[in-house]
Amino acid sequence: MPTITQLPTSVINKIAAGEVIERPASVIKELLENSVDAGATRIDVTIEKGGSELIRIADNGCGIAPEQLKLAVASHATSKIKDAEDLFHVRSMGFRGEALASISEVSHFLIRSRTHDTSAGAEMTVTAGTIGEIAPCGCPIGTSIEVRNLFCSTPVRRKFLRTTQTEMGHISEAFTRIALAHPKVHFTLKHNERTLFDLPADDDWRERLVTFFGQEIGDSLLWIDNRDDESSVRLSGYVANPSQSRSNNRMQYLFLNERFIRDRSLQHALGEAYRGLLMTGRYPIAFLRLDMPAEMVDVNVHPTKLEVRFQDGGRVYSQLLGTLRSKFLSSDLTANESLAAAKTSDKEPAVDPARAQQLRREMTDWAKGAAGDRQSAVSGQPERESGSQQRMPLSYDRALGRLPEFQPFGERRLAPPPLPPLQDATDQQANHTPPAGGQLAATPEAPFAQAAPTPQDRSSIGLQLHNRYIVTENETGMVVIDQHALHERVLYEQIREKVLAGKMESQRLLVPEPVSLTADEAGAALDVKETLASIGIEIEPFGGDTVVISAYPAMLANISPAEVLRQVVDILLSGEKTPDRRDVLDELLHMISCKAAIKAGDRLSVEEVDALLEQRHLFHDTHHCPHGRPTALVFTREELDKRFKRI
Ligand code: ADP
Ligand code: MG
Repeated sequence: MPTITQLPTSVINKIAAGEVIERPASVIKELLENSVDAGATRIDVTIEKGGSELIRIADNGCGIAPEQLKLAVASHATSKIKDAEDLFHVRSMGFRGEALASISEVSHFLIRSRTHDTSAGAEMTVTAGTIGEIAPCGCPIGTSIEVRNLFCSTPVRRKFLRTTQTEMGHISEAFTRIALAHPKVHFTLKHNERTLFDLPADDDWRERLVTFFGQEIGDSLLWIDNRDDESSVRLSGYVANPSQSRSNNRMQYLFLNERFIRDRSLQHALGEAYRGLLMTGRYPIAFLRLDMPAEMVDVNVHPTKLEVRFQDGGRVYSQLLGTLRSKFLSSDLTANESLAAAKTSDKEPAVDPARAQQLRREMTDWAKGAAGDRQSAVSGQPERESGSQQRMPLSYDRALGRLPEFQPFGERRLAPPPLPPLQDATDQQANHTPPAGGQLAATPEAPFAQAAPTPQDRSSIGLQLHNRYIVTENETGMVVIDQHALHERVLYEQIREKVLAGKMESQRLLVPEPVSLTADEAGAALDVKETLASIGIEIEPFGGDTVVISAYPAMLANISPAEVLRQVVDILLSGEKTPDRRDVLDELLHMISCKAAIKAGDRLSVEEVDALLEQRHLFHDTHHCPHGRPTALVFTREELDKRFKRI
């Protein structure tokens, strides 16, 4: 019979630490929250070696009396709530009384503190859970906590610490979230003697946003402020003009009563508010604060309080969606759009100004819900421009030079050619090439509007149908192949072979391309620098959180390096755990082959159809693309015979 025993405190604390202290960044989050709760107006964070060696947080808050120091590191001991009733009115960041107990259980911990009514402070050490003597010491009013050798008593956790760069990325993110939530507090962050951030108390939230995310984002921000009088919920903050967006939702900062939270439903509301203003796969950028009476929300649903439960989630959803919709309705997005267009045109090929103007107007009309009036908005514009109206969001982005242009099939053959040279195809299709220089095709459908192939055009072994399928035969019957899937597969095998042989062609960029990322993104990218180099993408740190791309695979020449790097980062950060090198490489190979492959809608020349089919041994009929769609269908001879009632 199993016997039940009460676990010793040290085990309880280690279990709690397992839940809330995942890595150095978690310590920073907990200690910063304590300092904020202590009413500090200045908080200094010092880190060494990504936090594995030292984390020090010093504040000028209320301090802890010497006789309370032991209690501060005891589990379930807190000054923030007294009884269960208080749980429903929590205004402080902490209330579980677990953080200091957990941290001091798994590190060498030193706390020094002084309250305002004493002339000297007291200090106490805790070595992996063992409390030392409390001794008087000289120190300023406030509390300073040092955490050394984190996870010294839990070696498995310690082994899981990533590189300094990655851990620093997570630390910066934790720091950013708290520093954004409390603009009236002066924060500093130092790593290995280098000051990364010095953020004086700020009345203007935008200033702090600019410090973290750059001027370009700062310039694109629109202020919103809305109060629901009935529910007493105030929603305020900034959302970015749709000219700025990201390929993931990590630039959506939501603060509930000064606490950073993640909330799927509100992220969805945000996405809905921008519907039609952003391309699919792009996410809005937003920095929003929700303030509501504490009893309207339950913050006790998640160990690190990252998620909360609203009493009336539906109402908050509608408030967010409604506020943003009416903001877009009343804003003249045009002004900012011109800015974006002007900026882009510095670097990008010239944009037809009349066309850009027109699209901006359509964009504003869209935002104002005046879609029905579009026709009048274009009157006076040259005829040729009316063709793309239904595709406004796509064209809008194109006009600003943000989308990779539609690539004529021929140009893509900068890629190591698995297929014969494409001059023929290019010549044949010269009239389908979109206008050069980032201008819009007169009608977006033009590239696909092909004449039916003449008999001489036909391949002897395969036939392209609808510019997307190739029909051929094998010994068992008729095979219909998805052209994109087959080409992707062929490229995947070829690139893999090259990468394994160390022969991936890469081009050194004439002007290295800087990509500004968030700290954790930059950390994740630099962590896989070697793997990236093996596929021809060379990156270097460039100060702050900017990474420069100095070399790039020749076969991706037509796709923006920054875009590819962002996708790489997305892959790296999307999983629960950090993928190993093989997984990363495999993901990258898939991404590159998918991006470089012909698309559905691309017309193929006879030679291309033949060349593709010659490689079809690489391709199994049963193969499914990553989205689970079949990539080839076989209609057996027997099946056909049956259908034709021959048997
Ligand atoms: P919680 O924050 O949930 O109360 P912690 O373990 O983080 O639990 O902290 C325990 C207690 O120690 C707090 O309730 C607070 O009274 C005290 N404390 C911790 N850090 C500080 C600080 N920087 N300044 C003043 N008091 C602090
Ligand atoms: Mg706390």
